[in-house]
Amino acid sequence: MSLSAEQRSGAMAQVVSDLRSFFFSSFYWLSFINIPRFFDSIFDPRRRAHLQPSLLLSALAVGTLTQGSDADKGASGRARALKLLESADGALQASLAAGWVDIGLVKAAWLIVYFEMQVHPLKSIERERSSLLLLDSLIRLFSLTTLDADVQRLQSSVSSTTNSRGRFGMNTSQTFNPYRYSGNNYSDAFGTVAPVEAAAASSSTLCNAPASTTHHVPDNLTLGPSTSPLVSRCNCAELAITHDSPTIQELAPSWSGTITWPKGLSEGELVKEECRRLVWATVTLTATLNAYTSVTGDDQGSRLSIKDPRNYALMFPAESIAMAGLPVQPNNVWTLYLRSMLLLQACERVRTDRTMCDADRAQFATNAWLEIDAVENALDQHTCGLESKSGFHAREMLFSARMCVSHEFQRYIPQVSTIGSKIFYRDKAESWLKQRMGVADLIWASLKEGRYVHTLDRRKPLLIYWFVSHIIKALMLWRVDSTFTIALVASKAFVKCAEYLMVFWPSTGEL
Ligand SMILES: [Zn+2]
Repeated sequence: MSLSAEQRSGAMAQVVSDLRSFFFSSFYWLSFINIPRFFDSIFDPRRRAHLQPSLLLSALAVGTLTQGSDADKGASGRARALKLLESADGALQASLAAGWVDIGLVKAAWLIVYFEMQVHPLKSIERERSSLLLLDSLIRLFSLTTLDADVQRLQSSVSSTTNSRGRFGMNTSQTFNPYRYSGNNYSDAFGTVAPVEAAAASSSTLCNAPASTTHHVPDNLTLGPSTSPLVSRCNCAELAITHDSPTIQELAPSWSGTITWPKGLSEGELVKEECRRLVWATVTLTATLNAYTSVTGDDQGSRLSIKDPRNYALMFPAESIAMAGLPVQPNNVWTLYLRSMLLLQACERVRTDRTMCDADRAQFATNAWLEIDAVENALDQHTCGLESKSGFHAREMLFSARMCVSHEFQRYIPQVSTIGSKIFYRDKAESWLKQRMGVADLIWASLKEGRYVHTLDRRKPLLIYWFVSHIIKALMLWRVDSTFTIALVASKAFVKCAEYLMVFWPSTGEL
């Protein structure tokens, strides 16, 4: 079929408009996409030839869905979004069948999971689960979690002749290792070498980055434990993406608190950095799902490869930009966010591990609780104000981890608190609920009074999911302690927002 020049330019204008909607309404987790490179790959005819059709189609599906509330394009918009998603899935399968696999395909799989998390007419747990399995298998297939298996820390290589690999992206030896106490299965969780090396060899084909060179991370970049104090004041704001690209505020307002991209990298290194960020975005995505499933008891997702720390040898984004020469503090907000996500995943994984003995569980619970405290304290020290731009996402993950630890390992809590477990936990629960009610009030003002809050508005059907998980958590807290009435007040505030959003996003499917 041939299109006239006018039709072509009209179609392109529609594509650009839907993509703008996609970026504008997206959560900060999608910042693994480098926006200038993304648009280049669409407008530059040479690069367009290498663009995975499923990546463009899945972005358009999400962008179209965000315009599908009953206040915008309504049911026809949602139907069109589902059609685009179907095409994206078809294109992805076709590329797989043809052996055309690259980072674009994994990004498309990620966007399909993201779509499935939203409220839409066909939403179901099965669809969500199968999209997640596809993403997990693609990440595993190309060993994206072990891209930095060839990187060694200078300090470790000098001070020890024993292997120090396989620890990147996770805690260093002096910090919390959630699997250290869990017996044979996990005892060497962060020190496994052989699979990491094998994986590095296979991953190089995807990223076109040299795999044979051994890189060294300078001493001053080594991540400290979560208790490391900040120097005097944090420098996160200077490393935020808005520092270099102020226009991101208009294009993707939720991304304004994300970390900048390293400069001066070769094409291969840039692709490698995109792969790293994609993996971390997947950790954020699965941890967010965990925050929901950990309270509903659905632990099907805990068997994903992406959730197993033994599979990691990957630099955090902050480490990558430090490698590129920028001054980065160990406890920068982005690293703390990711530690929160990893911590929740670790708690979830141990919770569902039926083979662990009581003594190991006790030790795990104690250390997890202390690490949650440490990460929270480290976040409290920040003066940059960037946390609000992520909707205090990390705090939510930490509280979910705390709930997981306190409910699943209740009998061990007295060992980690000197002032009485119940009072101590109640105090934490109350401050978490108050903080979340504050966010709910902001959203309510945005929805009801038309006051615009850049990260939150009706174009984000995922917020319904967020509110429902909060309602469940608040009611669980109340069930444990019926004198804890603030939990009921909070759940009412969350119900009000969820119901209001459901008016815009009617659905007969599962939440
Ligand atoms: Zn900061």
